Amino acid sequence: MEVEFWGVRGSIASAGSRTSRYGGNTTCLEVNTPDGLFIVDAGTGIRALGNRLMADGSDCVHILFTHCHWDHIQGVPFFSPFYDPKMRVNLVAAAPTMGAGSLERILAAQMQPPTFPVPWDVMPSQRIFHDLGENESYQIGETTVSWVALTHPNEVVAYRFDRGETSMIFCTDTEHPPGGPDPRLVDFARGADMLIYDAQYTPEEYEERKGFGHSTWPIGIAAADSAGVESLVLTHHDPDHDDRFLDQLAKVVGKERPGTILAREGLRLTVGGNGS
Ligand SMILES: [Zn+2]
Ligand SMILES: [Zn+2]
Repeated sequence: MEVEFWGVRGSIASAGSRTSRYGGNTTCLEVNTPDGLFIVDAGTGIRALGNRLMADGSDCVHILFTHCHWDHIQGVPFFSPFYDPKMRVNLVAAAPTMGAGSLERILAAQMQPPTFPVPWDVMPSQRIFHDLGENESYQIGETTVSWVALTHPNEVVAYRFDRGETSMIFCTDTEHPPGGPDPRLVDFARGADMLIYDAQYTPEEYEERKGFGHSTWPIGIAAADSAGVESLVLTHHDPDHDDRFLDQLAKVVGKERPGTILAREGLRLTVGGNGS
């Protein structure tokens, strides 16, 4: 199992010279397995990934949504595989994140005049929706994707990918309870090779932004340690945290938990095996 980060920014895209090394695109993760290609979230980072899939001649992809905030769906209208009639796109969401409507209704709603000129229905790709109910996982070949509901405005889920002995958790847009990591996440992540975690705020910033639905790097470390997770990757960087800020932060977290890294666009990691 390999992961590649195509968008690591939280809340809003933040292109510019001050964010060029870590990247300004919003959340999008590629998860490559021998069973197929999975994508988690369709932030602005999915545009470039879509172009690569077209160049590769891919004809099937699975997109999982943690939730439907703009920074996780805004890339949908610019995902070129949607415009290819040969492409089969599986769109997956978990029950708690759908609120009053289906995933299709929510995605179509952002592609309506006068805010967008191309309607959802015009795109010729084959689109198959999978709404995962309670305790229902998504199985493709030997890869199992399970989910857990966590705390975030308008709901969110974290996903866990398991294949053989290898496992990875993608947990963005979540706020921890007072005093430590969410016990639901710790249970869910138990023994995993890799945890990718929302660390949008420093502990000082968090004090001013309680209730905004995001977490901090010390809580990420506590979650990884409590769950016995080998490798911790921090993501959903605040749009105001530029490259210099994130370089400093990387040093701090690396001292606190050696091997911890900050996600950046283009970063590709092998899950498990050699511990990365
Ligand atoms: Zn977000
Ligand atoms: Zn969110």
